[in-house]
Amino acid sequence: MLMEDPKTDQNTAQPSLGAPWHPLMDAGRGYLAVYFCDPLARWPVREITRPRDNKSDPNIETGTFGLFSTCEPGMRNRIVQDNASTIFFLTTRKGGQGRVLTGYYHIGWWTHGTQGVVNRDFALAADAIRLIDPIAAVELPEPLATPCTSPFRTVKPIGEDIVRALRELCDRHPDRTNEYVDEVRRIERFARARSGFSYPSWGRRQGFSWDDAADFYQHGDEVRKVPNSSRTKKWHCSNCDYVITSGALLKQCPLCNKTASLTPLEAQK
Ligand SMILES: [Zn+2]
Repeated sequence: MLMEDPKTDQNTAQPSLGAPWHPLMDAGRGYLAVYFCDPLARWPVREITRPRDNKSDPNIETGTFGLFSTCEPGMRNRIVQDNASTIFFLTTRKGGQGRVLTGYYHIGWWTHGTQGVVNRDFALAADAIRLIDPIAAVELPEPLATPCTSPFRTVKPIGEDIVRALRELCDRHPDRTNEYVDEVRRIERFARARSGFSYPSWGRRQGFSWDDAADFYQHGDEVRKVPNSSRTKKWHCSNCDYVITSGALLKQCPLCNKTASLTPLEAQK
């Protein structure tokens, strides 16, 4: 079991969270999760500058996943249902070492997201985070190399033994979480200098912090089932009636800031 000695020394990991967060038990299993890496990054952080689809997860600056974005609802749902509480992150840098392991979250809490249970939307918060100097997946010892190099696209469930071995391996490497968080802030400043927005596709001038979290909790409105993708990449807001462009479903309308108000334009007849 991995419950003992959660490392809560990182300012991004939350040693305790109250309502609306619920504690998540640890049944030992976990997930490998692949994210897009920002091509401008010195440390392999998420692709903040991805055109028309600025990435907010993994949101290492708050230690959350799925609080701000609609990424990987299936994995988030399974983590909450199965107490599969460790996520190891993998990414590929352009011109880099191929797929690399960058670290992990140990999830300590969950809450309902803006899109509701009907859309399997659960937000996750870590009680331990460790991001490391990236390790090429092909250079991992077996039995870790096989699952980490296997050709899956987004997420892959892993068993207790792999979780334990991967976590021990990450824990043997120096903690670089603060460097990764600084890199997120640097790329946000770069984007803001260029366009006036850290996240142009969100209409967000600033980055994300725990001060923003409450806006992304479920507010008890009736939520409909909404597809996670739009063929046209255009979304209609039921609140302000505007149409916005985004690669992925956003939890919050970038124009009026209402949550759970967007549906794919092609579904509007
Ligand atoms: Zn709107």
